Amino acid sequence: MSGAPAAQDLEENQTKSMRYTKIIGTLGPSSSDYETQKKLVEAGLNIARLNFSHGDHDMHLRNIESIRRIAKETGKSIAILQDLQGPKIRVGKLLGDQMTLTSGEVYELRFGTEQTDKNIIPIDYRGLIHDVSEGQRVMMDDGLLILQVQKVKSAGVDVKVLEGGLLKNRKGVNFPDSKLSLPAMTDKDSKDLLFGIANNVDYVALSFVQDPSDIRQIKAMIKALGSDVPVVAKIEKLPAIDKIDEIAELADGLMVARGDLGVEANVERVPILQRKIIDAAVKKGKPVIIATQMLESMITNSRASLAEIADVANGVLDGADCLMLSGEVASGKYPIKCVERMASIIEKVEAWTFKHNPRYSYLENPKTQDWEVNESVAISACEAAHAIDAKAIVCLTLTGSVAKSISKWRPQCPIFAISPRRDVANRLSLVWGVYGIPNPSFYNTDSLVQDLPQALKDLKVVDSDDVVVITAGIPINQMKPTNMVKINRIP
Ligand code: PGA
Ligand code: MN
Repeated sequence: MSGAPAAQDLEENQTKSMRYTKIIGTLGPSSSDYETQKKLVEAGLNIARLNFSHGDHDMHLRNIESIRRIAKETGKSIAILQDLQGPKIRVGKLLGDQMTLTSGEVYELRFGTEQTDKNIIPIDYRGLIHDVSEGQRVMMDDGLLILQVQKVKSAGVDVKVLEGGLLKNRKGVNFPDSKLSLPAMTDKDSKDLLFGIANNVDYVALSFVQDPSDIRQIKAMIKALGSDVPVVAKIEKLPAIDKIDEIAELADGLMVARGDLGVEANVERVPILQRKIIDAAVKKGKPVIIATQMLESMITNSRASLAEIADVANGVLDGADCLMLSGEVASGKYPIKCVERMASIIEKVEAWTFKHNPRYSYLENPKTQDWEVNESVAISACEAAHAIDAKAIVCLTLTGSVAKSISKWRPQCPIFAISPRRDVANRLSLVWGVYGIPNPSFYNTDSLVQDLPQALKDLKVVDSDDVVVITAGIPINQMKPTNMVKINRIP
């Protein structure tokens, strides 16, 4: 039928219960082949993340092509998230590729790419001597090594090792106590962004956002390149926490980037900062991702620890739209098991929350100043779905915005967003409870609505006698915003 999505769409839902919280997996050496990626998608991967801190454009292009092919073959909407490295500071190439930092010893940090003297550690940060001062901390390798500035000199900075250990080439460096004068985007980021846009990625994530102006800057670049690709702000610096509401307003999504955030802030503050960032996103109706170390021990073990299972479960309870896997999928031994395990934990928690919270809800007072037609349609659709115990809410949507509005009320049935635009369907993969279905015959509304019951039956989303709530903007071929809520019983 004209309105029917491919029958194999959402196949996972035919065998498993519906999952609302989405899974992001980072592609890397353990997950760069077609077979593994196909299994990841079958296990429940919703979004493929390309980490531009690693790999070259050829490698990323191969991954993009293979994910697009798998999406086509399985009929699923899979989003591709391009994660830009941002102004991350790194150690250069060391003599012998590594060195041991002994506690109590003093070394010099100096701008450079290659080590020539074993007492001087090169880092790729030109502004070093201007931006740091005595007593401030320097962290290396995700905070495992801690140093302290002793003296700022004309060419470099003397640092004393507080917590020593082995330092390897290209490890990250953080200055949690210093205000750094870094650009929002490096030259590499600009080149990578151009590549991402040229290859139609569905989201771009910007690392180390410090200020709302960083989001304005990347958005201006995206616009200048003729694109409207949405931007996820990675929250991993303390200055961004102070301006989180403004950043949430400007960005199209937020990421709780717990790895670097834990180094920049005290790691013990991360669980509370996680809640704060999620609240800021939910208040603005923007999707939010929890990232890093969710199933860390599964990089080497086939089983997750109790603490990790609790962490994933708490991410769902905190109200995140997506949970992210990094090294677990990119370079671990069990990429597929990790996605399966995460999906299974999510499903268990969601089943519980639905039982104990038997009404759609919204964490904050929804009547904000942007209360609009979209919002009243969204709440009406949720009210109706709740009152009649609907099996699904189906949105006929051009831009996907009504599906996002409905999602933020967290209804207790899946939201199927049918759009003529494949990119819109892909982008909705990031949004809690929403499954995007591209449909080229969208403008043929009459047959679309008429054929919908059979299409949903084919998907095994509904049975005869089930009720669904439909939203649309009619007349559809006049590009009206959503203005209708309709209730259909499936014949
Ligand atoms: P990264 O970002 O993996 O690109 O560093 C996430 C984080 O810092 O947690
Ligand atoms: Mn990071």
